[in-house]
Amino acid sequence: MKSNNPASRIQDLDYFGEMGGVNPSIADSSTYTFLSAQAMTDTFEGKTEGCYLYSRHSTPSSNYLSNALAAMENTEAAHVTASGIAAISATLFQLCKSGDEIVSSRTVYGGTYALMKNFMSGFQVKTTFVDIADLAQVEAAITSKTKVLYCELLSNPLLEVTDIEAMATLAKKYNLKLVVDNTFSPLMITPANFGADVVIHSLTKFINGTSDGIGGVICSTQEFIDQLRSVNDGACMLLGPTLDSFRAANMLKNLRTLHVRMKQHSANALFIAENLEKEGYKVIYPGLKSHKNHEMLQKIYNKTYGFGGVLSLDAGTPEKANHLMEMMQDEKVGYLAVSLGFYKTLFNAPGKGTSSEIPENEREEMGLSDGLIRMSIGLDADIERTLERMKQCMEKIGISKENAAQQLTSH
Ligand code: PLP
Repeated sequence: MKSNNPASRIQDLDYFGEMGGVNPSIADSSTYTFLSAQAMTDTFEGKTEGCYLYSRHSTPSSNYLSNALAAMENTEAAHVTASGIAAISATLFQLCKSGDEIVSSRTVYGGTYALMKNFMSGFQVKTTFVDIADLAQVEAAITSKTKVLYCELLSNPLLEVTDIEAMATLAKKYNLKLVVDNTFSPLMITPANFGADVVIHSLTKFINGTSDGIGGVICSTQEFIDQLRSVNDGACMLLGPTLDSFRAANMLKNLRTLHVRMKQHSANALFIAENLEKEGYKVIYPGLKSHKNHEMLQKIYNKTYGFGGVLSLDAGTPEKANHLMEMMQDEKVGYLAVSLGFYKTLFNAPGKGTSSEIPENEREEMGLSDGLIRMSIGLDADIERTLERMKQCMEKIGISKENAAQQLTSH
């Protein structure tokens, strides 16, 4: 029987190497031989099961990883890609043609925002950005041309939780595809269980967890994955965002410890968030009762994995944020670096960094101040020591507790 625990669904898959190895052999070929010309023709036409033709399409290694991620996300199928943004762009270009429209949450990763606003608009695909918490605004933005409703389940970097069930209801009502980026909450939330049609991850973050490779995945129905892979008009075949077999094999091995890592990331992040809040610093973390979506998240998350490894903290001004991050790096709290899901804590100021593609007035409107620091909390064995180091840095710099509180409550 299929388990309700996404990590157990991954664990139940068996893959063996050619010689009985406990890890599958890596498919180190770009092309494949056939015993007959007819078999090659049949494979080209998609008539043969389990035969490979050319590795831009898929490889045994990328398929193992895809299948494991489909199991995790409880979807029929999945297709891994060379990056998270490749998964997003392939999905959107598959679903939207010239003249179509997207309704997207305004709090999305800066690269996703730029893709929709600056790049897809050049192909006459218009995106309307909305406050996803305002369902009336979302519904009002839907037109007869809308094809996709797009959001991040736990948004980057404001950590707003999308009301996924309400989004799914709207998507059904207007016959739209609900596309959800679940990069911040793997295992924590299973969007397909609540009606998402397509679930995307940047594998680069928690899923790989070693900050050594870039990858992405699209999880959906078999029908949609087949469309993406079509040799005639599939975005994954024709735009060529292929994940290399070696990287896919590495990521599969790392995926097997994701459940252990997510628990530790979440426990450490909760500890830091609760203690900084107790000190009077205002922190954004979905595991805090003060978080505006805390209750909603409790209805949809898989308790075992906690509230995630990312928190945000307002340093008040960009200058203070920069000073604090440099000092935290010197004091071995973690690294001043973008990305997330590493064993070390990583921090950056998204206003001037990963969200800088979003214009300043729009960042202000959504509450993304330039003094905001996003932290991906690491797997630290002694998180109390990390908290002490963090607090010392904050005190030395004089991060004003009242000021921080004011900045955030005004959002
Ligand atoms: N989605 C989210 C939420 C992200 O934070 C990022 C990258 O930061 C991406 C997608 C893009 O992923 P990648 O960098 O693997 O292309």
